[in-house]
Amino acid sequence: MPLTAPGADRLSLNGATVRKQWSLAQIIEGCARHGFRGISPWRDQVAALGLAKAKALIDQHGLVVSGLCRGGFFTKPGWLDDNRRAIEEAHVLGAQCLVLVVGGLAEGSRDLPRARAEVREGLARILPEARQAGVPLAIEPLHPMQAADRACINTLEHALDLCDELGDGIGVAVDAYHVWWDPKLEQQIRRAGKDRLLAYHICDWLVPTRDLLNDRGMMGDGVIDLPRLRGWVEGAGYGGLHEVEIFSEYWWQRDPDEVLAIIKERHAAT
Ligand code: ZN
Repeated sequence: MPLTAPGADRLSLNGATVRKQWSLAQIIEGCARHGFRGISPWRDQVAALGLAKAKALIDQHGLVVSGLCRGGFFTKPGWLDDNRRAIEEAHVLGAQCLVLVVGGLAEGSRDLPRARAEVREGLARILPEARQAGVPLAIEPLHPMQAADRACINTLEHALDLCDELGDGIGVAVDAYHVWWDPKLEQQIRRAGKDRLLAYHICDWLVPTRDLLNDRGMMGDGVIDLPRLRGWVEGAGYGGLHEVEIFSEYWWQRDPDEVLAIIKERHAAT
């Protein structure tokens, strides 16, 4: 059965998409103006606006916080305090999850198994506090090209193995950019199911991709079969928002109101 075209009421905007053009206050107002249902702010922008102010402004505009970006980096010094603050901020904002970019190799290290063990220990350490705060933790597996510097969890399968080991209150953020290539993607999305699927991030994979971090594509400009992916995610029981997250030097140059209008159009078409 074909899926019906989704409207802006299914959309959330990840703040990174227009962060170079707009402050958080402007992003919140922009989301409301364009009829987006949700927002996923970044912690540096929340701090710049002030946590209480951010919460008030988001509420005033009737937006859902589909996630807070981000916690994690368990292989970096100071990770515990930083994650505790992130959990507290996610709690205050009423975020549906705290997105975790788990961290890569420690400075000077070549020991990937050790990094992965440290991530596992870090997750186990903060999970009870996250549960107590009512903040679900969403592990975001990143594309393996970022294993060294950003996240040594690179497949949905690896993330879900950790979730199964750790129990309730933890799941995954499925980001099209990071997982689209995975031959086990459909199977692992089904395995995750409603309980573990905490966030769905969309953009596109450009050919060629000129920068590992900041050359993501607008939906429809690349090679990801987004309707199929959406079918898998929703078929597995995910009923949450579709969060548009485009780190892109190209889109950061554009008029942000235009960017939001194009996002709505492309989202409906893909
Ligand atoms: Zn993402």
